[in-house]
Amino acid sequence: MYDTIKYKGLRKQLIELLKKKGIKDTKVLEVMKSVPRHLFMDPGLINFAYEDNAYPIAADQTISQPYTVAYQTELLQLNKYDKVLEIGTGSGYQTAILLGLTSHVYTVERQNLLFKKTQRLFENLNLRPKKHLFGDGYLGYKKAAPYDRIIVTAASPLIPEVLLNQLKIGGKLVVPLGEKEQFMMRFTRKGINLFDKEKFGRFRFVPLLQNKN
Ligand code: SAH
Repeated sequence: MYDTIKYKGLRKQLIELLKKKGIKDTKVLEVMKSVPRHLFMDPGLINFAYEDNAYPIAADQTISQPYTVAYQTELLQLNKYDKVLEIGTGSGYQTAILLGLTSHVYTVERQNLLFKKTQRLFENLNLRPKKHLFGDGYLGYKKAAPYDRIIVTAASPLIPEVLLNQLKIGGKLVVPLGEKEQFMMRFTRKGINLFDKEKFGRFRFVPLLQNKN
């Protein structure tokens, strides 16, 4: 578990690329510069860690593309003490980025293999989400609700109503919505039954799955 000058240099180049692609939030860029993405990759793919691409991880899932991670995190507009729920822990990379911005992170993964692998990684890297849970993220995590922010890192075919209802008033949900292709959406809770809806760019995510397999 180490970082090197070479990886630091590659990260710097990646940050420049993210800026060119339109990411502006300096806090998001700073955190992405500091988190070693190679530690979250499959060992065989480590040399590609600072390419702006998604790569396979365990259980047929993927580590999100850095641009996508930056884009979603920027849309979250996370404040320092915000309580945030992440659906789809996957490799834990996006979780690590969230933990660089607030210490109140809850994250849920439904693939047991991936859950266990990432659990060990969090321990080794001393990353401490408030809770790393194994379960169905469609249900959110009611025990710690309501949240200031919710981020979904897999494609949701439908508006996830359960998650909307776990937002605080003023809270925001960022979710890729659609089946084959998704539009990034941001919902802001304006009242008990009142949500603002904004539509952003087009993406491709692995699907959010409701029941096991
Ligand atoms: N943020 C992750 C993205 C992983 S891909 C990363 O950068 O590594 C999406 C993840 O969502 C996968 O790990 C997948 O297993 C998980 N997932 C899919 N459906 C889910 C559900 N219903 N609840 C929780 N996690 C889910």
